[in-house]
Amino acid sequence: MDLSKQSVMNDILIRNGFTFKKSLGQNFLIDGTICPKMADCCVDGTTGVIEIGPGAGILTRELCKRAKKVVAVELDERLKPVLAETTGEFHNISFIYADVLKISLEDVIREHFKDVERVCVCANLPYYITSPVIIHLLKSQLPIDTITVMIQKEAADRICAHVGDKNAGSITVAVRFYSESRKLFDVSKKSFFPSPKVDSAVVQLKVLDQPPVDVKSADNFFKLSKALFAQRRKTLINTVSNTLSIDKSLIRNALNEIGLPETVRGETLKIEQIAELSDILFKEL
Ligand code: SAM
Repeated sequence: MDLSKQSVMNDILIRNGFTFKKSLGQNFLIDGTICPKMADCCVDGTTGVIEIGPGAGILTRELCKRAKKVVAVELDERLKPVLAETTGEFHNISFIYADVLKISLEDVIREHFKDVERVCVCANLPYYITSPVIIHLLKSQLPIDTITVMIQKEAADRICAHVGDKNAGSITVAVRFYSESRKLFDVSKKSFFPSPKVDSAVVQLKVLDQPPVDVKSADNFFKLSKALFAQRRKTLINTVSNTLSIDKSLIRNALNEIGLPETVRGETLKIEQIAELSDILFKEL
């Protein structure tokens, strides 16, 4: 079954009375070259894969062909009969019809992946929850090896930026704390139906055993890194003071202690400097 053929995809969707819901980020891939490439980048016969948002199953099929076991989590139950038809020939797939942000992935891994050597996530993510899903996956600190996701190109550039570069944001810092990211390839908006407004890219996050910096409190580190990017054109002292209600003299002293000028802007700090600053700043409070 070739779901990249528009006639095949249309026939299945129409027969099952399916209509696209924009609110669920339903832009399905219709380019037959993308999914095999994505699956090849993360899966082999020893892998258990969690797919988020299988849609009509175009990526799911490629994952099933290569992985030991696939668990696909789909919010839209209207896709049940579609997926039954498009993945019916595979015996290594289970579906969970639920919001990926509301289920215990720990339970999923324990129940479904007893006999796999490694677990990974592979998905063409619904764009309205790209950051929450990535952060959820990383912060849960599950035994996941890699996260390979298709996301909007701009989000990919932000996630793969170096902390301290102009493209970076608080998501860059969070992603870098838990993983090493790299962009694999770009995907044109013409590869989807319906076609979204912007192009996409596939990124891969290799989850780290240990964060690249030592911090006394990861919560404080993330609180500070969010504040650093909250008001980009202001100095770090102003934005952190405004956002976290911390006295400016405390922030000034902390900057002096780590040798940073009082005029420094939050978005220019390296991850090591953010770690140092959060340890000093929150110790004083
Ligand atoms: N994988 C398919 C493809 O590549 O053609 C579909 C990808 S489409 C961009 C995103 C999919 O995620 C849709 O099927 C949508 O229904 C599903 N989805 C949206 N929100 C979700 C959520 N919170 N949890 C799980 N799936 C979700």
